[in-house]
Amino acid sequence: MPTSSISPSSVTLMEGSDITLECRTSGTPSPDVNWDLGNLVTSYQQYNLNQHYTTLKMINVSSNDTGKTILCIAENIVGENESSVILVVHFPPKITFLGQAVLDHHWCIPFSARGNPKPKLIWFYEGAVLNETDFIWTSIHIAFDSEHHGCLQLDSPTHLNNGQYTLLAKNEYGTDERTVSAHFMPDPLLGTSSVISNDDDSASPLHHVSNGSNTPSSSEMGSDAVIIGMTKIPVIENPQYFRSTNNMLKSDTFVQHIKRHNIVLKRELGEGAFGKVFLAECYNLCPDQDKILVAVKALKEASENARKDFHREAELLTNLQHEHIVKFYGVCVEGDPLIMVFEYMMHGDLNKFLRAHGPDAVLMADGQNNRLAELTPSQMLHIAQQIAAGMMYLASQHFVHRDLATRNCLVGENLLVKIGDFGMSRDVYSTDYYRVGGHTMLPIRWMPPESIMYRKFTTESDVWSLGVVLWEIFTYGKQPWYQLSNNEVIECITQGRVLQRPRNSPKEVYDLMLGCWQREPHMRLNIKEIHSLLQNLAKASPVYLDILG
Ligand code: AMP
Repeated sequence: MPTSSISPSSVTLMEGSDITLECRTSGTPSPDVNWDLGNLVTSYQQYNLNQHYTTLKMINVSSNDTGKTILCIAENIVGENESSVILVVHFPPKITFLGQAVLDHHWCIPFSARGNPKPKLIWFYEGAVLNETDFIWTSIHIAFDSEHHGCLQLDSPTHLNNGQYTLLAKNEYGTDERTVSAHFMPDPLLGTSSVISNDDDSASPLHHVSNGSNTPSSSEMGSDAVIIGMTKIPVIENPQYFRSTNNMLKSDTFVQHIKRHNIVLKRELGEGAFGKVFLAECYNLCPDQDKILVAVKALKEASENARKDFHREAELLTNLQHEHIVKFYGVCVEGDPLIMVFEYMMHGDLNKFLRAHGPDAVLMADGQNNRLAELTPSQMLHIAQQIAAGMMYLASQHFVHRDLATRNCLVGENLLVKIGDFGMSRDVYSTDYYRVGGHTMLPIRWMPPESIMYRKFTTESDVWSLGVVLWEIFTYGKQPWYQLSNNEVIECITQGRVLQRPRNSPKEVYDLMLGCWQREPHMRLNIKEIHSLLQNLAKASPVYLDILG
């Protein structure tokens, strides 16, 4: 058996220095020796000094290589053996980004900082050290290797918090600082300006600024709110969404109530984090039919908060009506469990449907040998175009979905596709989500860099996810970046890599995906453009009519 041994066995060095690693091997016959350097950025020279001794000289070591593993692999006909060393590269801090304040569930001044050892972060407000409190605090959202992305979070800042914010990053090798000017609220004494000076995301519902006509009275805002000429945005945490409710949660929303005795359960369809989903018959729902098939979702947990979320969700769903949004019939709240009633989509969720109609379907057919026909590109376009139509509607309602993915779309008869889930499909697809800080589950594989790094969700981040949905459709439901771990995915996306063209995707469709994956949100295609491009492609596809005809 071959053996392999690297020395030194651990390496900590300063950025810019050189190092030579030695690898000694043994074995009969003499093994072939290979270095596996992964995606090392630093340049190197390799010397094979004799059959059992090779060296690797790394020159001007890059800080980007910190945390990377180097392997020395010895292999002969008997077998293989490897030894490894992890590079730890120290370097002074660098603040690579300090952005304009953005409003998510809290105000956030987003930043990215690098440095090893991990830099200490200190904030200054108007030149004086800012003491962090329960209302202003630093939160690191994503940290891998030596990169830290996060926010200075501010809970309900007022005009008194407007001003210059400086971030200082410091470790034993040096310091770096950057300053940004933040403007949260107009000063009430300076007139009635209704504009929050903000960055480029005025399209975000969470940034909706009223023109005065729907300015709330101060009593609506709570007695101590001093807000002039703008709306304080009510947001719902549920638990993944924070939605603008301007036109969603009208106070007069009438949620249909359905009597429990009108619902007859037939069988279980699936289970989400929210609770179980059943196929049921519902009596006396439509005037022209005695009973119809429906899908009912039963709320698993009945805590006070869960009940509140349930009622808000029901109001929201009542106000979302479109041919490509799953139809919401109403609720049943007599006793437990709380139930939501939706139209039944006979082919279930789109991800399962794509897999069942793809090349791997035989493996999934449970030995029943009832292989389904593979989807054609024109059918894929037809599916994509319907989701784009649903998303165009959501955008027109200033609704940011935040979790668009094929697992959250449903398929009915005749390849009818609707956006069908607003945050209830956690459990079955739990590997699609990345857990941060214990509770929050993020669908990182569908998220653009700004959502991963700063939790910024907008209509433009939904467009990015729509690009990923296109990729899912054209790969018959593969998981995006299936070959990578969650941490690797975060690294890839934040470094600007995008998914490869699926084998079945025409060039025009991949160009469309690339248009959704522009790093700068404002450079991405807008949802209307995407919808009309998909419509044109679907029309131009000659087999399209044959198949649906
Ligand atoms: P969810 O909790 O919404 O993710 O639902 C769990 C599973 O139940 C989904 O993956 C679907 O397979 C199924 N399901 C949910 N809603 C419907 C519906 N309206 N019609 C048919 N099946 C559904």
